[in-house]
Amino acid sequence: MNPSMTNLFPFPEFNFEKAPFLIAGPCSAETPEQLRATVSELVKQNIQLIRAGVWKPRTRPNGFEGIGALALPWIESIKKEYPVRFAIEVAAANHVEEALKSGIDVLWIGARSTVNPFTVQEIAESLRGVDIPVLIKNPVNPDLALWLGAFERLESVGLTRLGAIHRGFSNYRDTIHRNSPMWQIPIEFRTIRPEIPMINDPSHISGKRILVPEIAQKALDLNFDGLMIESHYQPDTAWTDAAQQLTPEALGELIGYLKTRKIHF
Ligand code: PEP
Ligand code: MN
Repeated sequence: MNPSMTNLFPFPEFNFEKAPFLIAGPCSAETPEQLRATVSELVKQNIQLIRAGVWKPRTRPNGFEGIGALALPWIESIKKEYPVRFAIEVAAANHVEEALKSGIDVLWIGARSTVNPFTVQEIAESLRGVDIPVLIKNPVNPDLALWLGAFERLESVGLTRLGAIHRGFSNYRDTIHRNSPMWQIPIEFRTIRPEIPMINDPSHISGKRILVPEIAQKALDLNFDGLMIESHYQPDTAWTDAAQQLTPEALGELIGYLKTRKIHF
């Protein structure tokens, strides 16, 4: 394992060799109550890094596109109550600015932003001189070069704590998965950039909670470094991605039965 990986997350003591790194939390921050209740249950499952969408670029207009900056004080206050850090999506320079002001710990670039080099460049410029971990989801389309290019843009402004998130690729017709995993793409990514941790997002690949475990297990069998899983205290009432979110309790059970031994091919 490349030692630089240990420095990726705000947990320098984390040992990727021993276990996959887990990130969990709701698709969207909805209300202070929803976020607090979800976090309080995730803490019982030993989750230390919470994901929550605050700005949410959606494919079609008129859907819920996130609470926006209003959620940042909720996050700040939850971090005072619970031993957790937060990761949020940023899709523009002003998101980065607001996130940094409120002490967000980890940023991620979503699949709809990774496809746009100017968007990635804008985010990169807004992070010049900043030391913060940034995760980059694969682009919605199966284009390895766009994904690699996003890393190069962030690296060119001096960012070093970078990770990749494999969230699958858009389908034309419905298939069993919401987004086709196309495992060969993250595998090839890793042959090109083996030092970059690869996190799997089984929630957005599967689209349904019943399929989350098999995708998560496959990722671990392929020696991925971590998992980002959507979890909501009342998934059926979620404002976004209700069908794929797990309760924190179900997430805990899943973590318990996943075989996490790393298999080296
Ligand atoms: C999300 O993480 O909630 C999300 C919208 O993801 P993606 O960018 O992978 O579609
Ligand atoms: Mn989601």
